[in-house]
Order: sequence, then structure tokens, then C-alpha cells
Amino acid sequence: MLSYPLFFKEMKRIKNNKIDLSGLSNQMIIAWDVLETILSAYGVDAICTCGREGEHSYTSLHYVGKALDFRSYELNKEEQEEVRIAFTIALSIDFDFVVEENHFHIEYQPKLKK
Ligand SMILES: [Zn+2]
Repeated sequence: MLSYPLFFKEMKRIKNNKIDLSGLSNQMIIAWDVLETILSAYGVDAICTCGREGEHSYTSLHYVGKALDFRSYELNKEEQEEVRIAFTIALSIDFDFVVEENHFHIEYQPKLKK
């Protein structure tokens, strides 16, 4: 039996085996599932290009399993924006979806409730 992170990696598409999914939050697993569903409409896989590994800003949520990056180059700019809107509608405002220059950055960052 594979450990949980390894088992999860077997089920998902990742860029390479350097992608660190250890301690990935449940919310990000849901986010990944939602992105998969949306991208399937474009015939594109949700391929993770960055997890906890790599260099990020000091306070990045990547370090704590609450942010992931995904490949976006298979979509044009208009489609990337469509994906961002569909994702934002599907999930709560506690998820941030950023269309970066060469990838999608998704993070779970609960907002203060008033
Ligand atoms: Zn990122």
C-alpha cells in the first residue's frame, strides 16, 4: 500500500516526481478536482507544475500545502480567463485563482467573515 501522498500522486497528473504534495490540504484536493472537471471541457488535463517544493515568497501558501500551480499553456488567454471565472463560480471566495504569465496559481486562503 502506497502512503497517502504517493497514492494521491498516482491518481493525479503531475509534471514530474519532484512535485511535493506532502501535507496537501483537503481544500486543495477539492480545488484540483474542480479544475480537472473544468479543464476536461477543453480536452486538457490539470497538470500540477508546483507543490511545496521550489522558491516562493516568504509567506507563500505553497510551503504549507495550500497552494498549487497548474499548466496553462495549452489554453489561449481568453480560455484561461474562462477557466478562472468557472473556477471562481464553482468554489467560494476562500479560493484564489490567479492567471499568471505561464501557469495558474490556485490557493486556499479563507477570508475574514464580517
Ligand atoms: Zn503558485
